[in-house]
Amino acid sequence: MKMPQKFNTYCPFCRNHQQHEVEKVKKGRTSGLHWIDRQKARRSTVGSMGKFSKVPGGDKPTKKINIRYRCKKCGKAHLRAGFRVAKFELTE
Ligand SMILES: [Zn+2]
Repeated sequence: MKMPQKFNTYCPFCRNHQQHEVEKVKKGRTSGLHWIDRQKARRSTVGSMGKFSKVPGGDKPTKKINIRYRCKKCGKAHLRAGFRVAKFELTE
């Protein structure tokens, strides 16, 4: 998909629509550790990792991308949930 570099969208800091600039980021929003991560952490010290020893499966056909939206007015950036897209381009 193509996405404009700058567009008007809602800024949660200004609480209204402002012009935003788009930046691509590696890591998206995280909601801390999930139960599976804690379970994995407990087993990763010694011995078999149990079900976590499995080799991960093949790649998905598309990659999830994460976009950061930076408000031009207040300079603060916010994230939104990432989405899957085959090709991502920023346009003027
Ligand atoms: Zn703002």
